[in-house]
Amino acid sequence: MFDTIAAESQRQLNETFTAFQRNRLPRYGQPDMDSIENLSVAIIVDQKRIGGNSRSTVGTITDLYALLRLLFSRVGRPYVGYSNAFSFNDPQGMCPDCDGLGRRSEVDIDKLIDRGKSLNDGPIRHPAFNPGGWFWKLYANSGLFDNDKKLSDYSEQEWM
Ligand SMILES: [Zn+2]
Repeated sequence: MFDTIAAESQRQLNETFTAFQRNRLPRYGQPDMDSIENLSVAIIVDQKRIGGNSRSTVGTITDLYALLRLLFSRVGRPYVGYSNAFSFNDPQGMCPDCDGLGRRSEVDIDKLIDRGKSLNDGPIRHPAFNPGGWFWKLYANSGLFDNDKKLSDYSEQEWM
């Protein structure tokens, strides 16, 4: 029912526009009904993603963000002149901690490895690194490690 009312309302509204404008509006097709009368204008809000990426915000999608950056660049103190200095998407303006994403992702290395085990004991808590597995062999057969030495016995220098 919603789709029928929305489509008919949109169709009636679109009839008020010129052919040129109608060609640029979204089309909802002819609803399957005989007639609907006294229908007020309905605004159809699409819930599809607009697009964008992890750096998109309401501000960037609406272009309001660009205007705000321009405003700050013109009247802000200290005066910088370039609106990119206020952009979280530009190396000049982005937060050095999170690179402008607003959050940081880090690996908790102690959740991934058991420092009480040697390479032969399987210290990496990921199935791909189980002793005898392909990735484990890359490390174990590299000749770079003492395979019986506990990870906790490696010096700071050796961890680098
Ligand atoms: Zn940040």
